[in-house]
Amino acid sequence: MSTATLAGRRALVTGGSRGIGAGTVRRLAADGAAVAFTYSASAAEADKLVAEVTADGGKAVAIQADAADPGQTEAAVARAVAELGGLDIVVNNVAVGHFAPIDDYPAEEFDRLVAINIGSMFWTIRSALAHLGQGARIINIGSINADRVPVPGFSVYAMTKGAVASFTRGLARELGPRGITVNNVQPGPVDTDANPADGEFSELAKQIIALGRYGQTNEVAALVSFLAGPEAGFVTGANLNVDGGYTA
Ligand code: NDP
Repeated sequence: MSTATLAGRRALVTGGSRGIGAGTVRRLAADGAAVAFTYSASAAEADKLVAEVTADGGKAVAIQADAADPGQTEAAVARAVAELGGLDIVVNNVAVGHFAPIDDYPAEEFDRLVAINIGSMFWTIRSALAHLGQGARIINIGSINADRVPVPGFSVYAMTKGAVASFTRGLARELGPRGITVNNVQPGPVDTDANPADGEFSELAKQIIALGRYGQTNEVAALVSFLAGPEAGFVTGANLNVDGGYTA
């Protein structure tokens, strides 16, 4: 019998081809889970990740689905269930950012952030629930910007992440009686394509981070893996920061 903590578990990670999502796919697979993940445009990265996990002896399935589209999101959940033979762990990771003052914040960007950062989480969970039983895990990836917004221009993004935090609390209450835990992992600045450690916001961010450096994707994935695993059975409704002390 395998001693891997997630052996026999089946996971879906949204937005898993790059960044924190890819780090999470790698970690969950390394811990023994079979993992499906979605992406919209980066087919080459998605294929590469599947090949990498497979070469390491794991199972990964890439599913192209635009998180802004509820129909594609529902189809992606159905495909993950079909490919993996069921579902035990859902990681709502996908999100996008657009940073601009409220006065001329583009309407289409507002709609896109709400559809992807909030809508995808809602539709994924709603369609996954029919397949999630006792002991299942829902893990949302929020942001420390739900709690702290140290620079202007982040209000719409922060609003969507506030929604992730409050949706997590509400669902923990609703799904607790079914033995399903729901938690929110709030990263601080993590080195990804969306927020490179040498990018536009990095110098200011590093001054705010107690550890003085960006996080790595595997440092977020480690907490996701713990929450997905057997030892986190009494953790639910929690908003947990992985932020190098950004909010200290
Ligand atoms: P990246 O932009 O690096 O990666 C995003 C992933 O989502 C990619 O795999 C991308 O693939 C996929 N994706 C983007 N749009 C869509 C879409 N419409 N449909 C399906 N998939 C999509 O993001 P990060 O890894 O930086 O962020 C991941 C999560 O962590 C987000 O929730 C973010 O808000 C949160 N976070 C990140 C922080 C950071 O500093 N990096 C800090 C705090 C929170 P593709 O291009 O193929 O669509």
